[in-house]
Amino acid sequence: MSKFIFITGGVVSSLGKGIAAASIGKLLEARGLKTTIIKCDPYLNVDPGTMNPYQHGEVYVTDDGAETDLDLGHYERFTSAQITKDCNITTGKVYHTVITKERRGDYLGKTVQIIPHITDEIKRCIRKVSKEKDVDITIVEIGGTVGDIESLPFLEAIRQMRWELGESYALNIHVTLLPYIKSAGEQKTKPTQHSVGRLREIGIAPDILLCRTEKHISKEERDKIALFCNVDREAVIEAADVKHIYEVPLSFRKEGLDNLILKKLHLKSEDRDLKDWETLVVNRLRNPQHEVHICVVGKYMALQDAYKSIYEALAHGGIANNARVHIVKIDSEDVKNNTVDRLLAAAQGILIPGGFGDRGIEGKIRAVQYAREKNIPFLGICLGMQVACIEFARNICGLKDANSTEFNKETANPVISLLEEQKQVKNLGASMRLGAYPCKLLKDSKSFQAYKKESISERHRHRYEFNNEYKKAFEKNGVVFSGINVGQELVEIIELTGHPWFVACQFHPEFKSRPDRAHPLFREFVKASLDVKRIS
Ligand code: GLN
Repeated sequence: MSKFIFITGGVVSSLGKGIAAASIGKLLEARGLKTTIIKCDPYLNVDPGTMNPYQHGEVYVTDDGAETDLDLGHYERFTSAQITKDCNITTGKVYHTVITKERRGDYLGKTVQIIPHITDEIKRCIRKVSKEKDVDITIVEIGGTVGDIESLPFLEAIRQMRWELGESYALNIHVTLLPYIKSAGEQKTKPTQHSVGRLREIGIAPDILLCRTEKHISKEERDKIALFCNVDREAVIEAADVKHIYEVPLSFRKEGLDNLILKKLHLKSEDRDLKDWETLVVNRLRNPQHEVHICVVGKYMALQDAYKSIYEALAHGGIANNARVHIVKIDSEDVKNNTVDRLLAAAQGILIPGGFGDRGIEGKIRAVQYAREKNIPFLGICLGMQVACIEFARNICGLKDANSTEFNKETANPVISLLEEQKQVKNLGASMRLGAYPCKLLKDSKSFQAYKKESISERHRHRYEFNNEYKKAFEKNGVVFSGINVGQELVEIIELTGHPWFVACQFHPEFKSRPDRAHPLFREFVKASLDVKRIS
């Protein structure tokens, strides 16, 4: 039977609970234990699929087609666990199930309440994942900050689970903040004391505190935190800021976190190490030999989390090529005929990510034209492929009004359009083409050179498709359709002949990139970009 680690967060949001959870998973995996993660999100949306990236950050897509929280992306990047739709439990999902049961009459006349019906459903969802995945340890991260009204049912559910399972089967880890007050020159423990106090009011006593801090924690401070928060001294773990997120598992290990977890959960395990992670990932990130500037031209540039997996995949491409990737973020609305040369002057590679809606589209099209004409390596992803097709149709095939029907329903040349099945869709939630689909690669292509195999599987999240009626015109003018979904005859990848590296795909390769196994397209894109000399 699986043991459980429940992770809560206190004091403020954005403490990196997701990265902490993923790092714990990594450490336990390095000790030979099989783990999985569940992210509980206390919002009423059933999933984040319909939320604006500024509200939520990136929507992470799993192989089985779930639109999930980006923390699950960290988990897949740090560990070998495969995340599925059940790994993201939202308040919306839980209520939806309970209310559906109530309407069916399943509760046999009872009053349906938060306790026990909602909390029971949360526990059922958590147990289902750990059972189906047959793991040694299930890590459950509770979103939000202790003290929020929204997360109370989740906290009550994990309180009950710990009571039911006993302390050798369930562990509470609280991620907290020790703010440093510069003018006083002091690290403050009070917010942590209050946060732990809040947790204890609802019956949860943390076993381990992960203390986020800019400064090292002195022995005196550790003693104080341990005494006032009622935890063992060794259970006050310093989680100091690190330069790269991939260093976090190493820093936790230095603090003895893995040994402590094993001891508290009465687990014996092999003493494996993290040498590969250290040499292949962290050392390369710290001391790369080369540098490269990649411009990402998108719509949500102000928020670091909006293109999380893309930025990570670029870093992985850098690791694979022993290079530091400098990401230059460009708002596509700023890209105009009279600004494009200046904005993209440093670009050794240009990437256009996925997106929705017509804001900034013309700027993206202009950036594609720049990459094509100036022979700058180009990677287009999802909407990035669609704008590459619009650009090619307009500027090379002479179809001046070419467009996607997403942006102009009346266009005479819909090079990107909806499939019949998508035209019937009424509800926006979970109704896109989602998850993993197979794709066949053309042998003589850049894509095949990257993947080194003919059959691949990649994750999707879109409604619109390349319109096959334009295939001939494109081919005649130098486009190679190098990736095709054979059963459905859908275009998955396009490339340009006569260009050093111009590849655009309808799927999202970024979701399958790993720090120690860069995605082939990102690896080759960064490699091609390294060959380009620009001003910087
Ligand atoms: N808006 C486009 C579509 O729905 C692209 C989606 C995306 O880039 N993820 O097809």
